[in-house]
Amino acid sequence: MNSEEILARLVAFDTTSTRSNLELIDFVRNLLDEQHIASQLVLSEDQTRANLFATIGHDDVGGVMLSGHTDVVPTTGQDWHSDPYQLKLDDDTLFGRGTCDMKGFIACVLAGLPQMAAQKLETPIHLALSYDEEIGCVGARKLAATMAGFDVRPKIGIIGEPTSMKMVLGHKGKISFRVSFSGLSCHSAYISSGVNAVEYAAELIAYIRKMNQRLQQQALDHSYTVPHTTFHVGNISGGTALNIVPEHCEFEFEIRNLPQDDLDAMVHDIKHYANDVLLAEMRSRHPQSQIRFDEISHYPGLHTNPESGVIAYTRAINPVDGIGDNVSFGTEAGLFDNIGINSLVCGPGSIDQAHKPDEFVTRVQLHYCDQMIENLVHRCRETAEFG
Ligand SMILES: [Zn+2]
Repeated sequence: MNSEEILARLVAFDTTSTRSNLELIDFVRNLLDEQHIASQLVLSEDQTRANLFATIGHDDVGGVMLSGHTDVVPTTGQDWHSDPYQLKLDDDTLFGRGTCDMKGFIACVLAGLPQMAAQKLETPIHLALSYDEEIGCVGARKLAATMAGFDVRPKIGIIGEPTSMKMVLGHKGKISFRVSFSGLSCHSAYISSGVNAVEYAAELIAYIRKMNQRLQQQALDHSYTVPHTTFHVGNISGGTALNIVPEHCEFEFEIRNLPQDDLDAMVHDIKHYANDVLLAEMRSRHPQSQIRFDEISHYPGLHTNPESGVIAYTRAINPVDGIGDNVSFGTEAGLFDNIGINSLVCGPGSIDQAHKPDEFVTRVQLHYCDQMIENLVHRCRETAEFG
């Protein structure tokens, strides 16, 4: 099967995040079996979704990892002109959910398997597929944690998110939390006997907002559209009636950090203010008061070292030249980079079409990616690298 035929098969699996991706993984495993390539799965807790990792070639040295997520965003409420789960070709353009984000890349990689397996590779190629990327790199975190324990890890990684085949070397990280406040309720005529959870939550929100304002004035990196780390509160709920001092309040916030900013220190700062200032005050009036932080999602930023081998390597095999701007969307590249796999982002299709109705990838873009995989296989056959 060529990449277009495989893409049609991949698109037909509805792998919307949090749904099972096991049918797609089975399909991939069959392709691997045909080439006698062993693979291992890292399952989600409820065993309905799986990451897949496979190595083609030696398993005693690290090689080049090709990585992508198998999940897609929902089509709910979107106005599509064709069935999103049926690949449609129109004037050299391929429409369907996931065509650019990012089943197109995976299709090109899978189409290259017979070539990879046909002859001995001097440098191994690794395949890493993940689940639930779109809801915060959930699967890849588990996969990266497992890979961190491998004796031999890939040396470099190409993460095929849609960049129109340009190399992207940086993106922001993100962490998000739900914060729940519990105070003490009472009649609003006697506010001093209660602890107002809504008001304390508002104090923390104001604090988070000030951190954002402070960063706007410093630590600017103009390679990003928004040149600083951002803090944002997205929703809040609390209280029941105006004449009752509210006992509960909760809100969600996120930090999207420049990879060079110290995210841990910022989170620590917010938690420190919540616990040592606000909670201390709440407890002085009602000892059972609580502020709880629940992490919703977390992935690190990417800041590919300009000296790292992955840039020169990708440039040598990629028919499309050039480095793309740093991007605002997150990817799994930062997670892999953190466990020592020098990574960058490079894949077919444009992010402009991702997550939208009538998502598409052009045949030209797929063709470039096919060529990159072909060049990669050729180089891995000829040269032993990274050993
Ligand atoms: Zn994606």
